[in-house]
Amino acid sequence: MRSILRGATVVDGTGGPRRQADVEMIDDRIAAVGRIDGVEGAQEVDLSGLVLSPGFVDIHTHFDAQVFWDRDLTPSSWHGVTTVVQGNCGFGVAPARPGDRQLIMETLELVEGMRVPTLQSGIEWGFETFPQYLDALRSLPKRINVAAFVPHSMVRLYVMGAEAAFSRAATDEELVEICRVVADALRAGAIGISTSQAPSHQGPQGRPVPSRFADEREVRALVKTLAETRRDGIIEITYGPLLEIEEVARMSAEYGVRITWGSVLPGLFGGPGSAMAMLERGMAAGGQLWPQTSTRFITTQMSLENPYQWSRVPAFSEVLGRGHDAMTAAYSDPEWRARARQQSVSIASQTDFLDGDIDGYFRRTSVEETDQHDALRGIPLATLAEERGAHPLDVMLDLALQDNLVTRFRNVPRSTKAELTELVKDHRTVLGAHDAAAHVDMLCDSCYPSYTLRYWVREEGALTLEEAVWRMSGQPAALWGLSDRGVIAPGKMADLVAFDPDTVSETPFERLYDFPANGDRLVSRSRGIEHIWVGGVATRCNGADVEGASPGVLVS
Ligand SMILES: [Zn+2]
Repeated sequence: MRSILRGATVVDGTGGPRRQADVEMIDDRIAAVGRIDGVEGAQEVDLSGLVLSPGFVDIHTHFDAQVFWDRDLTPSSWHGVTTVVQGNCGFGVAPARPGDRQLIMETLELVEGMRVPTLQSGIEWGFETFPQYLDALRSLPKRINVAAFVPHSMVRLYVMGAEAAFSRAATDEELVEICRVVADALRAGAIGISTSQAPSHQGPQGRPVPSRFADEREVRALVKTLAETRRDGIIEITYGPLLEIEEVARMSAEYGVRITWGSVLPGLFGGPGSAMAMLERGMAAGGQLWPQTSTRFITTQMSLENPYQWSRVPAFSEVLGRGHDAMTAAYSDPEWRARARQQSVSIASQTDFLDGDIDGYFRRTSVEETDQHDALRGIPLATLAEERGAHPLDVMLDLALQDNLVTRFRNVPRSTKAELTELVKDHRTVLGAHDAAAHVDMLCDSCYPSYTLRYWVREEGALTLEEAVWRMSGQPAALWGLSDRGVIAPGKMADLVAFDPDTVSETPFERLYDFPANGDRLVSRSRGIEHIWVGGVATRCNGADVEGASPGVLVS
């Protein structure tokens, strides 16, 4: 199969300048770039007026479960992403013993906002070990390519059992077994390892997720396992009290492997400048540390049916995951409310919970989606609280109760534009942390490629087109060990996207109810992403997806 793509402006993913060139594909690879004569029997595609770039590589996704019911891996595939890396933040669905499946699904609901009924009817549990899961991934039809991390929390659960995994550090014997399971996964095709220490990662009954019970010795053992088994791989470590960014950077230097740090995000660790300061501290410590930054301003939506942002407040963690009735009862109970108020005010005053500023949080939070409160949309909860002479937490609970808990509250972060611009422009970061396939009921940052091309390139001029394409293809592909992808050059895989630089953009969010068991999600579609090829096979043509295309492979 031979195709010649003619007339595009080629931005090749190396960061080098754009040029007019034809691109020839033979089977799944790029055969030539430059002036190409007609060849008998070759298919010709006219791309005049479009930019042709490598398909985008989204290094931070959670498609581990969705891949079973959505072979198109949407919305990512709509935005020119041709390879996703899943299994981030220490979570996934394998390895998994049959008896742990329910607990895994409950954990995913709490930490990644996936609904248990959706997971129950969507996942085909035909695997136990991680290599078996990779086999399942290989055989599933996929529109785009998938690469997988082996997730630490699931490995702990598999090796230690639920009771121990959710309560303590590993013993020496358990640690040997954890490293053996991880090494097997890497040999079978996992491209790296993920683990999390993040305080926001709480499992059922408010217990921290398994990886948070690891001690430094256990994290070091993971890094060492990567160094010994797959030196071109990468390990994702999510921030938390156990390890500061400079310690992680030193670990990277010590073992000689790449570590990606999740994440340096403005407003997440304190006031303006704190994310930049964290980046500088990490860089000063040496090593091959690649902090992720999001390209998106973090606005989140949350309903009190899954108030995960509040999971650090004991009163909330008691009711998390206990179901609609138990939550409604607690929220209506004056005694519970008094505790929730007192605890949240005190935790916010002593930690970075809600940016350490609960009043500010309620000034930036308002009703976004609702059945009953249309007139209140967009009004800060702090303003409503003042009008009503009530505490804003009580106002939030009242509104939610009157709405049968369906109200979605939108939180806008502190003004962070200047710092986010610095981070997005800083080549010592990688563009990640967009969490595709997670928290799908309240955010959709998976649209970041078309958004970046619109906002950061066309409107803000903060990134050149060449820089943006490199940041979304060649740079992540090289750092994540995907050496066959991410640039347009002879011999590389023909994962390509052709877009209109003048119109490319994401579309406003819409809510779909298209997941198993009627699960809902927010999605954004794209405009101006005209053609996509995955391994040389057209998956989108003139702005429309090719029905049923599934050339994606497991990249291992
Ligand atoms: Zn994540």
